[in-house]
Amino acid sequence: MRVPLAKPDIRDEDIQEVVNALRSGRLSLGPYLERFERAAARYIGVKAAAAVSSGTAGLHLSLIALGLKPGWHVITTSYSFIASSNAILYMGAVPVFADVEPDTGNLDPERVEELIERDYTRSDEGYLVHKGSGARLWGILLVHVFGHPAQLDRFGSIAEKYGLTLVEDACEAMGSLYRGEHVGRFGSAGVFAFYPNKQMTTGEGGLVVSEDERLVELVKSLRNQGRTSMSSPWLEHVRLGYNYRMDEMSAALGFSQVRRFDQMRRRRREVFSLYNKLLSEVDEVETPVEKPYAEVNPFVYVIKLRGVDRDALMDYLRSKGVETRPYFTPIHLQPFYRERFRVSLPITEDLGRRSLALPFYNSLTEDEIRYVVEVLKEGIVRHGGKGSIKADAT
Ligand SMILES: *Cc1c(COP(=O)(O)O)cnc(C)c1O
Repeated sequence: MRVPLAKPDIRDEDIQEVVNALRSGRLSLGPYLERFERAAARYIGVKAAAAVSSGTAGLHLSLIALGLKPGWHVITTSYSFIASSNAILYMGAVPVFADVEPDTGNLDPERVEELIERDYTRSDEGYLVHKGSGARLWGILLVHVFGHPAQLDRFGSIAEKYGLTLVEDACEAMGSLYRGEHVGRFGSAGVFAFYPNKQMTTGEGGLVVSEDERLVELVKSLRNQGRTSMSSPWLEHVRLGYNYRMDEMSAALGFSQVRRFDQMRRRRREVFSLYNKLLSEVDEVETPVEKPYAEVNPFVYVIKLRGVDRDALMDYLRSKGVETRPYFTPIHLQPFYRERFRVSLPITEDLGRRSLALPFYNSLTEDEIRYVVEVLKEGIVRHGGKGSIKADAT
């Protein structure tokens, strides 16, 4: 049996909408863009949304629109996909990495507050500056890693207490709820991503959401070369903009996916639960948590291994047709960052060594899940563990 890591959930009705976009003759800045934005904003429960060409583009434009300036500091996580931190670097600003919670893998509010108290002090102007360099601490870029919401109440209080801007990288969290409300609407801006391995896809694509409609208008101008409005007939560019537009084929696909997203989300959570159930009895495997404040629509299914050689296990799984991936190699250990950011993050580094993403997508069948779990147990026995059920351990 061959089981890939990820697969998009594409139905005939999705294909039909994309064909409609192609047949319409309007391939960019057409009606699907607004239909998608309206539908997505309604689903998330937020006032306004701007669709863009990728999640990375959405993060970049959010930071521009919210006024981050070169040299300023932004606290963020290293246990993430590299885009969250890269967006800070695009701005000439400085990502400051804090450590994460060992169970969720999300930025730990305790560590963040410790870091602020240790390294920053209030300036005469009233904002926080670094005790050494004097650089201003501007904000916190949260990531809801693997779809599990970060502790938004805690981070909201920290942002308020210290006068910081809170931005949510919700690129892995479409459909995830924090205390019953959709993530992405707690910060000054929230960003979603629709690459084919995410909970829903537009091919390439992203979305910036905010309760602040003017902020979203600004993002819409920035994505479109700084034009005043989408419909302005003249090529009038009032600010430095980018081409970060989402085309109509992508927007049509997104529109169709949002329309049936509840059903997609239900299936994703079923696959998640079945894995949890089958793996709960394996001693060497920690299954992903779902905290009481969270209802997770998982992006990937990531386990943490105990007492097993992960890389050898991955080779074994590959030999049996099961594709897996280490999620994540921490950002501060990536070659580009390693030379520039010397920081020690024990929990992040430990998670980076022990975590493994298993095949995870909506059309995964129960037989395939059982096969993955069986092969995983075999591999564990071969590479350091017992793979036995917990009751046997005595
Ligand atoms: C996927 C993702 C992004 C954005 O990715 P794109 O490929 O640019 O759409 C940003 N941050 C995180 C944490 C992600 O997982």
